[in-house]
Amino acid sequence: MIEKYKPDMYMKNIYEIDYKKLKNMGIKCILFDLDNTLVPFNVKFPSRKIKDIIERIKDKGFKVIIFSNSSKSRLKPFKDKLEVDCAYSCRKPSTYKFKKILNLYKYNESQVAIIGDQLVADILGGNKCGIYTILVDPIQKKEFIFTKFNRMIEKVIYKKFKNKNILKKGNYYES
Ligand SMILES: [Mg+2]
Repeated sequence: MIEKYKPDMYMKNIYEIDYKKLKNMGIKCILFDLDNTLVPFNVKFPSRKIKDIIERIKDKGFKVIIFSNSSKSRLKPFKDKLEVDCAYSCRKPSTYKFKKILNLYKYNESQVAIIGDQLVADILGGNKCGIYTILVDPIQKKEFIFTKFNRMIEKVIYKKFKNKNILKKGNYYES
């Protein structure tokens, strides 16, 4: 079932996303993947640019949560500097932490979106628990060794997507 990897929206990066549109769709909470979605995986602190966009998103009334497979210590500087909540060691695509967040913050599936760069983690996990899924292109090529393995699987999925005319890399769309 290739459809479970299909994002509801596909944009080049977090700056291209129409957050007003998400708001109008009834989204109240945005889960952000960290590595290669917000920052390259080896960057330890948020830049001014990241701070600004997160601030703008919060000003629109969204609850922002960094939702990452990385460790608590990796997320700490982002939590402090961006003043957002964080969920660490999420083990995406497991739905465990997704469901925990929905329960904890009292949101239903239609009120939450995830933005991430990995089909096999962010998008699959989000689709499995029924929240809105937004794919962005990874910021850079350099990655964790585990991510490299995921990318190999992704390559096969992207090929199937292309053959079935479902999604083509670089052909961005809003649902
Ligand atoms: Mg990522």
